[in-house]
Amino acid sequence: MRLVFLGAPGVGKGTQADKVAAQYRIRKISTGDLLREAVRNKTTLGLEAHEHMDQGKLVPDSVVIGLVREKLNDPSHANGFILDGFPRTVPQAESLAKVLVARDLHLDRVINFRVSREEIVKRLSGRRSCPKCQATYHVEFAPSKTSSVCERCGETLVQRSDDQPEAIETRLRVYEEQTAPLINFYEKKHLLSHLNGAETVETVYQNLVKALAIPQTA
Ligand code: AMP
Repeated sequence: MRLVFLGAPGVGKGTQADKVAAQYRIRKISTGDLLREAVRNKTTLGLEAHEHMDQGKLVPDSVVIGLVREKLNDPSHANGFILDGFPRTVPQAESLAKVLVARDLHLDRVINFRVSREEIVKRLSGRRSCPKCQATYHVEFAPSKTSSVCERCGETLVQRSDDQPEAIETRLRVYEEQTAPLINFYEKKHLLSHLNGAETVETVYQNLVKALAIPQTA
């Protein structure tokens, strides 16, 4: 199964991708996670990406396309994959299509997660992350049982620089301008299913499983 999870930041694509990846034994490819890892490891790519990410802007297409192409070459993705946070621009979607065609592969479905802007701002601004094991919490909806430290590893939790109010605004604007056109792009290819992401994690997952069973219409 080859899937793309589309949606604004904070709609819960990553959480759902983790659940589907475990259930269907396929790999999740999150460009956000890959880029954050590169930043932590201070690689050349990480140094290039860092500033764009901090401001909530997109990392240049050439950088992320190279990253994803490398991952898709990895034999561990032969069973399928979920792309979480990629593509985010039309040129990225066109490059992905070329990479897949060259391998005689196709996407099975693109899921568009929808959540209101107000809810997204609430989710992102309250998010806290563990800088060591990458676990995520929410000050209101999913607080750490051990206060401001990570339940899993004891590290002090931090707010991601791109979850600060100014960066959230930029990310939402960038989403509207550069990523939202992909809805039309994939609709035309008869690949798109819309999903209400504002429900509980479990309800969204149940609806997602149903959507994944929908047969192809074209
Ligand atoms: P995410 O965790 O998916 O919200 O990604 C965090 C940040 O990584 C984004 O705000 C961008 O700066 C960068 N990023 C992730 N995926 C992409 C992508 N496909 N294209 C460009 N930049 C990306």
